[in-house]
Amino acid sequence: MRALRLPAWKTEPELVEVDEPTPGTGQVVVKIGGAGACHSDLHLMHDFEAGAVPWNPPFTLGHENAGWVHTIGAGVTGLEVGQPVAVYGPWGCGVCARCRVGADNYCENPAAAPVPGGGGGLGLDGGMAAYLLVPAARHLVPLPEGLDPVAAAPLTDAGLTPYHAIRRSWSKLPPGSTAVVIGVGGLGHLGVQILKATTAARIIAVDNRDEALRLAEEYGADLTLRSGERTAEEIRAATGGRGADLVLDFVGVDATLRTGAAAARTLGDLTIVGIGGGSLSVGFFSVPYEVSIQTTYWGTRPELVEVLDLGARGLLRPKTTTFTLDNAMDAYHRLQDGTLEGRAVIVP
Ligand code: NAD
Ligand code: ZN
Ligand code: ZN
Repeated sequence: MRALRLPAWKTEPELVEVDEPTPGTGQVVVKIGGAGACHSDLHLMHDFEAGAVPWNPPFTLGHENAGWVHTIGAGVTGLEVGQPVAVYGPWGCGVCARCRVGADNYCENPAAAPVPGGGGGLGLDGGMAAYLLVPAARHLVPLPEGLDPVAAAPLTDAGLTPYHAIRRSWSKLPPGSTAVVIGVGGLGHLGVQILKATTAARIIAVDNRDEALRLAEEYGADLTLRSGERTAEEIRAATGGRGADLVLDFVGVDATLRTGAAAARTLGDLTIVGIGGGSLSVGFFSVPYEVSIQTTYWGTRPELVEVLDLGARGLLRPKTTTFTLDNAMDAYHRLQDGTLEGRAVIVP
């Protein structure tokens, strides 16, 4: 089968011929119906060097995957060939306290995982191929009625990651609160929808592209702002001087982190999801009192079940553009150039 593989760090992926996988005991092979192209893949191609992450190329890209059960390994029960499934992406050890509650994203024994801190498309072969080997059947979540693999694929990361980041701040988002989304791309356009569907917060969306702001408006943002030096002031002005109860930074460069810290409200949350390589200097007087600053990584399996439910009920509508394996690199080039809206999904 053909697969889009990252051959080495700081290299563009190549479409190459590889063997079709066969499932071992406890494993399942999924026929891919959709594989999302995440901005993290651009970081893999352009930014990371050996040692930056605990993985080594070559591996097939594609860590947002959904499709149909294709072949089932010995010992697997409860799945049927042809059944539509989403693939939970972070593959932990399966036995530590975190993995046992479905939080493989924060596995405490990464040395015993199939790959430390990653999964298919992040260290191991991913879904930008006809078939994906999933190392444990527990990573498959049956697709609820009404959700096809093209829509489900982005929900497994571009949906799940903001859902996890927002869910942890739910108690801070009652009526009268404000949430800010910085970066309305693949993750951010679903972040706006998750805020709308699960909280009463007023939503302010920030981006440096007008099309992204238009998309945010379409999905229910109450106010949209062009990203710039004055963004934090504008957020304060729009909140009667108080600032935002939650700032989600889906970019993570110096400028957006500064904006986020300056826009956060006393007792608020600044949650850094974007891997833009920026940093923020924190001291007693540099952020409002009791602002909590955290990074988040992906989400849990139970949260993926909740995200898929929101998707099946039409409360989360990923905006997708589909590409074939042959033009997958066009998808990445458009993601890089900022000429995509929502998420690109490869349909092999
Ligand atoms: P994307 O390219 O689809 O979206 C990024 C958006 O940010 C675009 O709309 C772009 O116009 C906007 N943007 C860029 N610079 C900006 C600035 N200075 N101010 C305001 N907006 C700006 O990317 P994506 O796939 O949504 O991923 C976003 C980030 O999240 C990436 O860094 C990615 O690696 C990271 N990510 C992190 C996790 C995690 O678990 N922490 C998971 C997935 C992706
Ligand atoms: Zn991703
Ligand atoms: Zn574990």
